[in-house]
Amino acid sequence: MAWTSTGSSNAELIDNMLRNGILGEVVGAVVDGSQSEAEAASERVARAMKKVDRANYVRDKRDAYQDSPQSIGHGATISAPHMHAYAASHLLPYLPPGGRVLDVGSGSGYLSAVFYHLINDPHGERQSLSSPHTESKPLVTCIEHIAQLTDWSVSNLKRDGLDEALETGQIDMVTGDGRLGYPPNAPYDAIHVGAAAPELPQELVDQLAPGGRMFIPIGTYLQNIYHIDKDETGKVTQTEVMGVRYVPLTDRKSQEEE
Ligand code: SAH
Repeated sequence: MAWTSTGSSNAELIDNMLRNGILGEVVGAVVDGSQSEAEAASERVARAMKKVDRANYVRDKRDAYQDSPQSIGHGATISAPHMHAYAASHLLPYLPPGGRVLDVGSGSGYLSAVFYHLINDPHGERQSLSSPHTESKPLVTCIEHIAQLTDWSVSNLKRDGLDEALETGQIDMVTGDGRLGYPPNAPYDAIHVGAAAPELPQELVDQLAPGGRMFIPIGTYLQNIYHIDKDETGKVTQTEVMGVRYVPLTDRKSQEEE
């Protein structure tokens, strides 16, 4: 899968994923609905991913347009593009204009940038939040516990043209323990967790807005992605989605020792 979608540019990488059916496959596996709805969803994900140049988020630019994960140092990796597409697809209906997302373990900042473009897509779905937010708070909150990665991801986002979004506070990059979420910007309509938690952190559940969804890998050796959905009455349901292999959601010391 990695080499078949590799491109010589960012647009080519995304187009190859579309042409090879990878994007349609990953999005279609998630979107309930007709084929045309799944196609519209994969176009929407592709449009956002084309606005994010992966070369700005990797350590070695020669690997930028490969559909494979790469090390970004400190025991962390930038996920493969098809995994980013997969995560974005799972949260797509929860990212309407004005929606708020928390990206836990934001690493390179790549997926945070995709989330920002999805929320700001002028051609996106016009669906709206069932409980619109009244206070103005950041659209995308990113939390990462390795300060060097937070700093690096800020420079990545700036290089990728998102300096204004950072300056105006539409993207908020925080250094801290993501297992505790980030209460000042809560509640969140969508929470993405980019590292595997040994168990579901209750703080994150508490910070999920009614009608919201969390996408989280849970487990140690055997890990699964779960959807944690909170309905309008606050009732929480947990659905197992698929088996995966992520770096652990842990404390800083254990990660640096890995
Ligand atoms: N989506 C990111 C994934 C990075 S890998 C990307 O594609 O770039 C997972 C990240 O989770 C790492 O950067 C790691 O430092 C971070 N992480 C692990 N435990 C954490 C914790 N307790 N709080 C915040 N970040 C954490």
